[in-house]
Amino acid sequence: MTAPRPLIAGNWKMNGTAASLAEAKAVAAGRGDHPARVAICPPATLIAQMVWALRGTDVLVGGQDHHWDDAGAFTGDVSAEMLADAGAKVVILGHSERRAGWRESDEMVARKVGAALRAGLEPIVCVGETLEERKAGRALEVVTGQARGSLPAELAGKPFAVAYEPVWAIGTGLTPTTPEIEEMHGAIRATLGELFGAAADSVPILYGGSVKPANAAEILHAAEVGGALVGGASLKADDFLAIVRAA
Ligand code: PEP
Repeated sequence: MTAPRPLIAGNWKMNGTAASLAEAKAVAAGRGDHPARVAICPPATLIAQMVWALRGTDVLVGGQDHHWDDAGAFTGDVSAEMLADAGAKVVILGHSERRAGWRESDEMVARKVGAALRAGLEPIVCVGETLEERKAGRALEVVTGQARGSLPAELAGKPFAVAYEPVWAIGTGLTPTTPEIEEMHGAIRATLGELFGAAADSVPILYGGSVKPANAAEILHAAEVGGALVGGASLKADDFLAIVRAA
C-alpha cells in the first residue's frame, strides 16, 4: 500500500491580521513540489481572505473550531457550514486549549466532528494527555479514551486526521522522546483499527507540540507519524517551510 501523503498543518491560534497573509503567500510560493499536503488554519476572520490570497495554489485553508449545530442562536460562534462557505477545507477540532479553556468534552468534540462532515470539512481531531496524567502512567489510557470518545462512527470512510498533542508539549519547547511518540501513535493506530477497521490504516496521525525546524525531521520520520500540527512555528513562513521540507 502506498503511504498517504503527510499532512503539515499550521495552527495560527488567535494570531494574525490581514498583514499576515504575506506569510501564507510565502508558504505557498516556497513549498515547491514537496509531496506533503500543507494546510494553514488562521483565525476565522482571515479564512476568506486567505483562500483568495492562496487561490491557484494547493495550500489548504482551515478553521480552528466551530459549533456542533448547523445554525441558530449561538452569539459569537461560527458553524462548520460557514467555514466551508468561506473556503475552508479542513478544521482543527478538540484542541486542548478548547478542551481546557472551554470545557469541551469528548462528546462535544464528537458532535463537532459530525457537523464538520455534514459541511464537507476534513476534521483534524486533537487528543493529548496532561503532564500529571503522563506522570501518573495514564497517558495511553487517557489518549486512547479521548480518541474513542471524540471519533464518531460516521467518520468511517471519510477523510480525517488525528493529532496527538501532549498538553505539556504545546508552546513549551518540550517534546516527548521519539520512542514515547511512537508508542502513543501505535496505540492511536490500534484504536483507529478497533473503531474503523483496516480502512483506518491510511488515516494520518499527526504529532503536535513544539515542532520546530530543528526537531521536525526526527519527529516526522518516527513510526506512525503522518505529519505535524504546528503552532508557534507556523507563524513564520521560513520556519513552517523548513518543517514541510523535513516531512
Ligand atoms: C498547537 O497548539 O497545536 C501546537 C502544536 O503548538 P506549538 O507548536 O506552539 O507547541
